[in-house]
Amino acid sequence: AKYGLDNLSAEKFRPYLDTVADQLQIHINEAHEINACAHKVIQGCEKMQFSWKPAQRNVKQCALTGHCLAGCPSDRKMSSLVTHLPWAAAYGARIFSDTEVVKVRTRNGRASGVEARVTDPDSGAHVADMQVDADLVVLAAGAIHSPLIMQRSGVEDRSGQ
Ligand SMILES: Cc1cc2nc3c(=O)[nH]c(=O)nc-3n(C[C@H](O)[C@H](O)[C@H](O)COP(=O)(O)OP(=O)(O)OC[C@H]3O[C@@H](n4cnc5c(N)ncnc54)[C@H](O)[C@@H]3O)c2cc1C
Ligand code: SF4
Repeated sequence: AKYGLDNLSAEKFRPYLDTVADQLQIHINEAHEINACAHKVIQGCEKMQFSWKPAQRNVKQCALTGHCLAGCPSDRKMSSLVTHLPWAAAYGARIFSDTEVVKVRTRNGRASGVEARVTDPDSGAHVADMQVDADLVVLAAGAIHSPLIMQRSGVEDRSGQ
């Protein structure tokens, strides 16, 4: 409320998080998903009288191979690569890889598309420029790059934040 972002209250945001959690099969780890190393941590917590609880994960029928940090080789981890991206493609979305958004284009104070650079994934060489015109632009380049793209695009927040 302090910054006028009333739509981002925990209460209003919760239903969206719940929907995504359902879609990505996020669940509290079951007993068989908690390994020996974690059991040592649990023992330590209990000895020190620290509270503990199992983590939640977005995984479907985990095979317990322990390769998650390098990418799940059997596609059981419900990452965007096996969920929202192919689902969007099935609805007609076009996905451009190796394509970096340089700036968001604006028309009459509204975002109207993006300008992007396409690179060769092997050499990193700049191979083409691209422009996308769109009625709706969603900027989701992460906490570091979204503000940088907005800055490059000259669309800093008018509130001064
Ligand atoms: C090591 C690590 C472990 C984590 N573990 C967990 C965890 O266990 N549970 C949890 O809930 N969260 C975890 N997080 C946090 C979570 O990953 C992030 O909060 C979340 O991924 C942010 O999502 P996002 O879509 O906003 O941005 P990102 O996932 O960062 O996606 C931004 C995308 O934009 C792309 N991009 C950036 N600039 C451009 C550009 N100019 N043009 C085109 N594309 C661009 C990037 O390549 C990236 O694919 C972890 C984070 C890290 C770093
Ligand atoms: S890599 Fe996949 S199958 Fe293996 S432990 Fe991680 S989520 Fe489970």
